Amino acid sequence: MTDRKRILTGIRPTGALHLGHYAGALENWVRLQHDYECYFLIADYQVSDYADDIPRVREAVWEVALDWLAVGLDPEGSAFVIESLVPEHAELATLLGWFLPVSMLERNPTLKAEMAAMENPEDGSTERKSVPVAFYTYPVMQVANILMPRAHLVPVGEDQLPHIELTRETARRFNRRFKEVFPEPEALVGRVPRLVGIDGNAKMSKSRGNTIDLKDDAETVARKVRAMYGGPPRAANEPGRCDENPIFLYLRAFDPDTGGLAELEREYETRGVPNKVLKDRLTKVLNDLLDPFRERRAYYQARMRLVRDALASGSERMRRIARETMDMVHDALDLNYLEKY
Ligand code: ATP
Ligand code: MG
Repeated sequence: MTDRKRILTGIRPTGALHLGHYAGALENWVRLQHDYECYFLIADYQVSDYADDIPRVREAVWEVALDWLAVGLDPEGSAFVIESLVPEHAELATLLGWFLPVSMLERNPTLKAEMAAMENPEDGSTERKSVPVAFYTYPVMQVANILMPRAHLVPVGEDQLPHIELTRETARRFNRRFKEVFPEPEALVGRVPRLVGIDGNAKMSKSRGNTIDLKDDAETVARKVRAMYGGPPRAANEPGRCDENPIFLYLRAFDPDTGGLAELEREYETRGVPNKVLKDRLTKVLNDLLDPFRERRAYYQARMRLVRDALASGSERMRRIARETMDMVHDALDLNYLEKY
């Protein structure tokens, strides 16, 4: 049990989870949960961009936990952790910040893009915001999250890779300079590194409102798929290019009948297939995927006490490891002042 390698990964409690989270990350978590000792984190220290909407964060903690249970994560085998219930994360982030030059944050492409979007929202729907200090340093908090359980593997979507690189660099620096405390963790990107939004935007994302949520009911999925962007305008039976039609991106991501799909793609490019046929197929594919999730979600939703217990015991498990790691860190840095006399 204890000689299994460790996984640490997480999600921010800012809303219900969507197909992008599933294909980019969660699917790998479910697949790997029994081979690794897993710590799944609800990263509630990292929601500074939602600080004016704490009720939403509070609600989303439960939504995320329910979504995890819905997709089949097992809270007995893996620890479901609320970040702020393990305040050692904040301490470790503070100490690691001693060794990270600001230039490494300035260069981080994901952070740069997120800050730019915050300062200059392109859709005009969100008001322009100044970047909170805690937003600028959230990658350091993420480094602390990963290093805290001395994780070996971090299954995430593609946008998180710069943060994992930062983590590896921090572990190397710390180990070299003080003591070998942290393994250098590897990133593992999901089958679909970045799922596009239903509006055709490059990323399905809560903040853009272009998601299909894991908890959407069958009717909602059908409605969202009907409204999906289906490539450049084209008569129903005019051949098109699959790569220009995001419906195919979704079918490639989720349709288990790959043979049937290959045939459909050939037909689309030679004789033409109406978008309605594609959308009907996609609706069925997605609802088949989501049905078992909906069932499990309903089970736990009727038993929220089980969800609460999973979060409490998972956070407690993490806390034990966190104390162990912090002892190692204090020892490596020689910060045990009171032991002198
Ligand atoms: P959103 O972008 O929808 O507002 P988020 O960025 O706040 O969500 P995170 O908690 O940062 O969500 O992401 C959780 C995990 O899901 C990360 O590993 C991230 O890479 C992955 N992920 C999120 N959206 C997508 C997507 N569209 N495609 C693939 N992976 C994704
Ligand atoms: Mg994100």
